Amino acid sequence: PEGYRAEGSLTLGDIFIAVKTTKRFHQSRMELLLDTWISRAREQTYVFTDEEDDALKRRMGDHAVFTNCSAEHSHPALSCKMAAEFDAFLASSRSWFCHLDDDNYLNPRALLKLLSSYSATWDVYLGKPSLNRPIRASETLPNNQTKSVRFWFATGGAGFCISRKLASKMVPWASGRNFLSTSELIRLPDDCTVGYIIECKVGGQLLPNELFHSHLENLQLIPPSRLTQQVTLSYGVFENKLNVIELRGPFSPQEDPSRFRSLHCHLYPDTSWCLQAVGW
Ligand code: UDP
Ligand code: MN
Repeated sequence: PEGYRAEGSLTLGDIFIAVKTTKRFHQSRMELLLDTWISRAREQTYVFTDEEDDALKRRMGDHAVFTNCSAEHSHPALSCKMAAEFDAFLASSRSWFCHLDDDNYLNPRALLKLLSSYSATWDVYLGKPSLNRPIRASETLPNNQTKSVRFWFATGGAGFCISRKLASKMVPWASGRNFLSTSELIRLPDDCTVGYIIECKVGGQLLPNELFHSHLENLQLIPPSRLTQQVTLSYGVFENKLNVIELRGPFSPQEDPSRFRSLHCHLYPDTSWCLQAVGW
């Protein structure tokens, strides 16, 4: 897996990949990721969850991080996990931090190609803008007054990446307990808080990239011939319908509702269980 060396000298080993999950999704979501893309990026992928789980520990060893964050969908609980991811990255010696949700497929080859065109010694924040305009928030000031702020942020559900240079500038607002206090200032979710720190505190900016995808967009609109280039994909429910990528096989929608197993075989056909799937 470390062998996908793009033109430059960046390797997968230079990237820290953090996946956010919760106990209730260890089986239903994490097993799928471990069988598919994580098998191609084992060394650099860490999973941040909220409850001890022997099955997950057996598969991931010390790459399964059991945080003390609560298993809730609340802003503080999610910010607690983002802070744990960020601190683990800072403590590593890797050049890039990438965050993903547990319903994202990440193509390590496409990620390496994308990051190879930037330098981790620049301020880089790459992802899919959540809205087509900057979000407005009201920031609480120390004197209890408020200030209106505007900033872009990358939607966490599509995954995003941050260079080490930029991450080191974020430390006063993002490391340890600071992340939670910063998110309380604007009372918005963790991914918004990341954008706020970068754009309003550090003076960086989001570089919108169309290779990151969440299930909040219609995934059927991605032409099957373009799937190999995409950095992240997702699956989920959108407007009450199952929202998945368009891909015919090798697995049926019944066997592979998320389409991630079929996608993995499309991208990495040398995978052992893919050869069986197409009848070799
Ligand atoms: N998640 C979490 N704690 C929770 C609920 C969700 O850490 O209590 C994580 C989940 O594992 C996923 C992300 O938050 O990585 C987004 O959750 P989900 O896809 O269920 O919701 P969405 O926001 O996409 O509708
Ligand atoms: Mn989701």
